[in-house]
Amino acid sequence: MKFSKKQIEEYSRMSAADLNDAGICPTCFNRASGGLIFGDDTNKIVYSDADIECAFVGNPRADGHMMIATQKHYHDMSEAPDALNKKIVCYAKRLMKIIVEVFGCEKVYLCTMCDGPANHYHIQLIPRYSYEKRGSKNFVKERHDYVFDSEKFNLVSQKISNFKYHK
Ligand SMILES: [Zn+2]
Repeated sequence: MKFSKKQIEEYSRMSAADLNDAGICPTCFNRASGGLIFGDDTNKIVYSDADIECAFVGNPRADGHMMIATQKHYHDMSEAPDALNKKIVCYAKRLMKIIVEVFGCEKVYLCTMCDGPANHYHIQLIPRYSYEKRGSKNFVKERHDYVFDSEKFNLVSQKISNFKYHK
């Protein structure tokens, strides 16, 4: 997606929710504008290639909360090609194990709920720790600010980058 200088100026003053309501994808706009919506995310992205991006969430519901987003704009899983969905599931599977290894949580929950007029397809991986009750309440745990941990970041990044994906 390309944006004019005027659009960039106008959209950068809007919130992600308002952009979505106006039919402008906040994720695509954020990337095109060099992070004007979600800020600099280089300390969150652990892996990216031509198809996908794996990153820590900026407002996580648990330490180690991650997401996988497509590079190209799709509204949700139902719009994306099967080959891409397959790749996302395989990366999610690998990341689930990595998150358990690095963060010491007990389980990792997977959800994808792409809603709004201009949502960008992504899936979320939310850790559940041993001291937390099992169940769907883990999907709506209170959010907090992402805290960059260089050791954990580098470990996750190294492990997911070493993953050999077979189409
Ligand atoms: Zn998008």
